[in-house]
Amino acid sequence: MGKNHTSTRRGKSLLAAFREQCAREDAPCWLCPRPIDYDAPSDDYRNDDRFQRDHFYPVSTHPHLEEDWDNFRPSHAKCNRDRSNKPPRPAIGNRSQAWV
Ligand SMILES: [Zn+2]
Repeated sequence: MGKNHTSTRRGKSLLAAFREQCAREDAPCWLCPRPIDYDAPSDDYRNDDRFQRDHFYPVSTHPHLEEDWDNFRPSHAKCNRDRSNKPPRPAIGNRSQAWV
């Protein structure tokens, strides 16, 4: 909580565009594959099913990918929170070595 990675204007519009695209495609959470509640506002903090942008490579370890569209993933607020900076559960092959 309290972390705001999206500090630039470009970052904010990228985030808005990403959310819009995910909502249009009704993209499921990439962590648990259940549908996301795109109708929930992003400040609906009690709604664990609300949309949150996650990063495939965590910003803490890959800050240069923070605003890289290809690094964005749609997730539930709860799944994003539970994951924190850990690698995702699904098998992703050799790439997991990058986190060790
Ligand atoms: Zn989820």
